[in-house]
Amino acid sequence: MKQGAPQKKNSGASGLRPDRALRGFRRSLPCRKSRPEKLQSNFVSVFAQNGRSRPSNPLRPAACMKPEAAAALSASLYIHIPFCARKCAYCDFYSVASEAAAETPRVMRAVLEAEIRQFDYYREHWRLSEIPTLYIGGGTPCLIPPPLLEKFLAEITRRLPAPAPGEFTIEANPESLSEDFLHICAAAGLTRISLGLQSFDPRCLETLGRRAGPADNRRALRLLDRCWKGELSLDLMYGIPGQTSRAALADAAEALERGPGHISLYALTPEEGTPLYADILAGKTPAPAETRQEFIRGKVHKLLLDKGYENYEISSYALPGKRCRHNAAYWNLMPYMGIGPAAVSTLPEETGPVRLSGIRDLGAYTKGPCLSETELLSPRDFLADYILLGLRTSGGIDIQTFAQIFHLDFFETFSDVIYKNRRFAVKNSGRSGNFTLTDRGRRILNMLLLDFLGAIDALKYEGPLRWPLG
Ligand code: SF4
Repeated sequence: MKQGAPQKKNSGASGLRPDRALRGFRRSLPCRKSRPEKLQSNFVSVFAQNGRSRPSNPLRPAACMKPEAAAALSASLYIHIPFCARKCAYCDFYSVASEAAAETPRVMRAVLEAEIRQFDYYREHWRLSEIPTLYIGGGTPCLIPPPLLEKFLAEITRRLPAPAPGEFTIEANPESLSEDFLHICAAAGLTRISLGLQSFDPRCLETLGRRAGPADNRRALRLLDRCWKGELSLDLMYGIPGQTSRAALADAAEALERGPGHISLYALTPEEGTPLYADILAGKTPAPAETRQEFIRGKVHKLLLDKGYENYEISSYALPGKRCRHNAAYWNLMPYMGIGPAAVSTLPEETGPVRLSGIRDLGAYTKGPCLSETELLSPRDFLADYILLGLRTSGGIDIQTFAQIFHLDFFETFSDVIYKNRRFAVKNSGRSGNFTLTDRGRRILNMLLLDFLGAIDALKYEGPLRWPLG
């Protein structure tokens, strides 16, 4: 739905995906695509019994497994709901259009049951002591029939270690948001709804191929006013072909009327393989112009700052105390579990951090194995991820934490990069506290990352790596 989960990219409702590190990050991590250096593991075969028998260590032969030796782990949890009524024109998140499928309730039930089995495996293998944040994204979670959703939430919440997650978010799409859905979520202890509006402009919504029209968006906001007492995050999109800065400002102003604690503001990015991308290639739709996008972003950015929102990450704005803690776990590269088809996890193993990817096929996922691949992250890759994610945030990289994880002095290691970019991109180049970029530096992050990656490659870093910190 939206852009913010361990799989997501640009989307509707608002997901958070750990894999779009170089762009609208939201849809990044938890559903990330495979990476080039993937390590074929035996997880696929050992987890192939549909979850009925306990799988052994996914990364090594059973003889090497010492679960009792593993320290209890604190890790955030992302659950992917891979169903949408139909696909939006710009979306390349993994979800299956289910509008016309008569067998959908049966498939949904099978997928949710498989997700519970996958979670059981993770709980057993990683001995979870705490799940500080939980995020249910998609896809479109509010498409799940209410009785099934209620049962699923009950199954998940009864498996959570105490205390309950401090932040528990679910994504919603305006056209399918219902009173029942909100009551079930509140009763299950959810604390936060993330609603994918994108725009109120009918032409923009049509270009995006959204199912919701302006009236659906307004109805959903009224419904939330009436029936939801928890936190609210709204997704907006800018740089839509044909969108003027006036229209983007009008979208933001209307969203602000509801007083959301959090706003995610994403640039439309045409993704290869989507209908929008094909239309742009065919010349049927103009490509979003980068300078135009940046102009519009600047206008909306200023409005949000004037209204008291803090731009605490490239695409994220929050009132004081309303930052998204779940997304912060990705940006700080804390351990997280991604449950569901195409969802990605980054978790510690005895050999170092591993990235596990859920299989991108509903049928295969429900029959098992749940995972398509595991990748042992090299110290070099982990260092690169850590920097590329940390620099997205206004808080930047904590130098002390960095030294504890990588046993490196940040300023010494990257002195050439910092010196080269000191005038326009580096905000704090002191030798204590955090290393942060200026607003402009974060706008040109991809360019700066090339400098950092060059320095990392020259370093030939092989560890030692201490992660997660105790
Ligand atoms: S297709 Fe589904 S996941 Fe993608 S943007 Fe649309 S509602 Fe969101």
